Amino acid sequence: MAAGDPSESKSKPMTITLMVTKKGRKIMYAEAGKDFVDLLFSFLMIPTGAIAKQALVSKGTKEEDQTKTCCIKNLYDSVQNLSPSLLKADKEILLDPKFFSVTYTNDILRIQSPPRPQPAAPPRYFMCTNFASRYHSHPHSISTECGTVTCSSCGSLVNRELKFVDKPPEPAKDPVPTGYVKKSANFVITDDLSVIPVNSTAAIVQLWNKLDVKEPTELEERNVTVGPNEVIGLLRAAMVSTTALNDVFKAGSKVSMCKIYMA
Ligand SMILES: [Zn+2]
Repeated sequence: MAAGDPSESKSKPMTITLMVTKKGRKIMYAEAGKDFVDLLFSFLMIPTGAIAKQALVSKGTKEEDQTKTCCIKNLYDSVQNLSPSLLKADKEILLDPKFFSVTYTNDILRIQSPPRPQPAAPPRYFMCTNFASRYHSHPHSISTECGTVTCSSCGSLVNRELKFVDKPPEPAKDPVPTGYVKKSANFVITDDLSVIPVNSTAAIVQLWNKLDVKEPTELEERNVTVGPNEVIGLLRAAMVSTTALNDVFKAGSKVSMCKIYMA
């Protein structure tokens, strides 16, 4: 999912490279570019209500009992079941909150960005019909309402609109979502979702030492596609696990407990 053009991101699947131990098939880390790192960083901008809706709610699965223990799901269900007569606000504000960020479009999780506020219309001013008259010593009146008041100086109705010759300001353009990190940067992501910029061989060697990888030959590459199920699995793992990559991508692992719940 590229962060720049949403239409492009829908047609272009995101892939990352997993570095897996030949023995044990453990995922040690992932190599990824901007698109995946932007996605992970966007987790920090997701409202809790959206997480409850998309990551913690499970319907009709074997894991339903487990998800029932999640307090956030009970909060979500409470709002969902609450009578609108007891609410001052539309419950969708809580059940379907918008993405906090306008710099990233989270197409996979289908969390909408907030609409851009529309610029307010320029104010209108009205004057009395004798505004230009010199026969009154006091200034004539100006009002923001048409025809509702009379001039304090001459008593005429204030209903002639003032015309401004200033050029109206350009309406603000919607910012193009550009994500959070620069396109040129490369990263590795460890199993606990630490995101580490990698710009040298020394950085990789340092990582191997940290992960206790003795020889590069211990590892092999595995390319995987990151689709909706994987993203939801990663989001859930980010909340409840310290082994996100292995939870989601390890062969045979299940992420079905994180099924999307579409209200
Ligand atoms: Zn007047």
